[in-house]
Amino acid sequence: MAYTYDPQNIFARILRGEIPNKTVLETAHTLAFHDIHPQAPIHVLVIPKGPYVTFDHFAAEATPEELLDFHRTTASVIALLGAGEGGYRAITNSGLNGMQEVPHYHLHILGGRVLGRMLDH
Ligand code: AMP
Repeated sequence: MAYTYDPQNIFARILRGEIPNKTVLETAHTLAFHDIHPQAPIHVLVIPKGPYVTFDHFAAEATPEELLDFHRTTASVIALLGAGEGGYRAITNSGLNGMQEVPHYHLHILGGRVLGRMLDH
């Protein structure tokens, strides 16, 4: 599968420092920041710094260092925010069916309340 990355997407602009974000944690390959429209008391987005469009793009083409850093940083974010105690949900949306709004791979970490069923219908 060929992936086309749009370097003007809003998360690319955040990574270039063109627009601000509320950073939770930053490493060499990964940035975690608060979602601008939180859906729960905890709502953080974890993104790789590399130009990956979707989860499958990242999983297929990222380097071992990027993959490790992304997942270890996500674990650190969950620990830092205390999301592990009560439990949380990790979601990623892709493409049209997933109704992905921002075409830069991101993992939503949601917690701090009972989140309801995964899908409404
Ligand atoms: P998705 O529908 O999975 O692509 O989710 C995109 C998410 O990005 C939404 O939850 C938005 O609220 C969030 N978002 C959009 N712009 C920003 C921004 N500038 N800073 C933080 N979160 C944002």
